[in-house]
Order: sequence, then C-alpha cells, then structure tokens
Amino acid sequence: MPQFKKRKPLAICSVCGAFTGEHRDLNHRCRRSHQGRRCWGTFKSNLGLVWEECLGCHAIGRVGSEICVECSGWGWRLLG
Ligand SMILES: [Zn+2]
Ligand SMILES: [Zn+2]
Repeated sequence: MPQFKKRKPLAICSVCGAFTGEHRDLNHRCRRSHQGRRCWGTFKSNLGLVWEECLGCHAIGRVGSEICVECSGWGWRLLG
C-alpha cells in the first residue's frame, strides 16, 4: 500500500496549540478540554507559521501500521 505525505494542518488553537485540518474549524472555538473545562482558544489560520516534516514519519503520520507518536499522526510539527 503506498503511503502519501499528509498536508499541513490548516489551523492551530491559539491557546492549547491543537491542530485541525478542517476548514470549518477556522476561527471557531477549539473542542479540546482541559481538566474538564473546554478550551477557550480559537483556531487561527496557519498562514505565516513555519512547519517542518516530522522526522519520525516523514510527514506520513504513521510508522508502519502505528500512528506516529512524535506528531500524533499529523505528520507535521510547528517550528518555534
Ligand atoms: Zn485549544
Ligand atoms: Zn510523525
């Protein structure tokens, strides 16, 4: 089975740094919760952010049949 590189996440939460790949999440509230409270951040476009390919999976998001632990399956990491 061929493995394809993932596209970079579209946006990240301004508070917790969660990634999203969904267009509908842009400028919407983050869905993560922290100790039972919902995150108060909003997803902001990744424009202007610098991404690097995950070194563990080379942007594929998986290592063999396992989700890559380095990037939680996103394939990308935020620089800085
Ligand atoms: Zn968040
Ligand atoms: Zn990875």
